[in-house]
Amino acid sequence: MFGLLDCNNFFVSCERLFRPDLLKKPVAVLSSNDGCIVARSQEVKDLDIPMGVPYFQVKDVLTKAGATLFSSNFTLYRDISARVMSTLEQEVGLCEIYSIDEAFFELPDDITQNEVFAIRTAVMNKVGIPVSIGVAATKTLAKQGSKLAKQQQGVCVLDLTLWQTIATEIPCGSIWGIGRQTAVKLRELGVTSVAEFLKLDLAVVRSQFGVVGERIKAELSGATVFSLGESHEEIQQSIMSTRSFEHTTTNRAELQSALAYHVEAVASKLREKQLLASQMTIMVLPSRHGDFFLKTGRKEIIFTQPTANTQDLLHEALRALSVVYEHGVPYKKAGVIVGGLSPQMAATQSLFSQAAEETQHVLDQMRDSLNMRFGHGTIQSAVILPNGARGSAKLRSKEYTTKWKDIPTVHAK
Ligand SMILES: [Mg+2]
Repeated sequence: MFGLLDCNNFFVSCERLFRPDLLKKPVAVLSSNDGCIVARSQEVKDLDIPMGVPYFQVKDVLTKAGATLFSSNFTLYRDISARVMSTLEQEVGLCEIYSIDEAFFELPDDITQNEVFAIRTAVMNKVGIPVSIGVAATKTLAKQGSKLAKQQQGVCVLDLTLWQTIATEIPCGSIWGIGRQTAVKLRELGVTSVAEFLKLDLAVVRSQFGVVGERIKAELSGATVFSLGESHEEIQQSIMSTRSFEHTTTNRAELQSALAYHVEAVASKLREKQLLASQMTIMVLPSRHGDFFLKTGRKEIIFTQPTANTQDLLHEALRALSVVYEHGVPYKKAGVIVGGLSPQMAATQSLFSQAAEETQHVLDQMRDSLNMRFGHGTIQSAVILPNGARGSAKLRSKEYTTKWKDIPTVHAK
């Protein structure tokens, strides 16, 4: 059997962990730059506020409801996520961390509902984050189970008999791996529910949806296709870090600082995922107001040797900036995208650069471990200006669990 643990309203739950006064009150978390709603408490969902909606569109409704808003605090969320995952691993053994708030794991076939409840309780008691667990014969069904668990008491063991009875009511579009386009295509074939999809002839599925559709069909009928560590996703194609400035800037040093910030973000992400990039694009975008919109600066860099090294990437990014930067243009946004990603293991070492590469590798490792231990930005490139590239995030909570000065104090009377 497979299990999927999913944290409920994860970012909101992280904020509530240090603000217990906000339990059962409307809470929402905003995207970087405070632009859109990216997490909602149940109370906010009940106000019919959709995910991803621009904040300004729902500001009045939220204010009226007395909602508390937070800017995203990823340092906090990542740390709480790591605690959830390590606690889960103590309970169930090796896990496949699927996203910041979800993990797959394997369970014995004869697991009982009470035993699954015990896993859930352990995570909730040790970390303090509410979670839901779905258990089923395949990963796709476990994922579905975790959604049903949310409507129940937090646990759903989805056996095949139960599944067959409810599959008539489950829309295909809600299934893991069936995207919007596939759902539209299915509807054109007259298929809306999972039960109808399962009745489709395999040859039809194969011709219309290829091997991906075939795998989903198998998984939905209870035949294991994906084992732990395997999913629909091919290797990630690109990693991006980009952000608007709070105010436009014509200052080159500020753009250098912003790009360095983004390079560090993508480089550490590359190393975390054990990937190398063979291509990088830097962008500096002017404000859309005025006549500067044609002055978008964009430059692509191809690496002869794929890399995840901060110094290599930064060097090239700053060089590219000096090519595209135009004096006097009010820039509003900067970003870095790396692509052409390949697994670190597959990389062929260049014959001549080994010693230098070793040194860089050690420096990157040190940088990553210090930043992980003492908080993001502890070690950063000197071109990054204090408070540079931060954008606006006026409502960000403290880094309660990763910064000494932010550790909460408790007053006992
Ligand atoms: Mg979740």
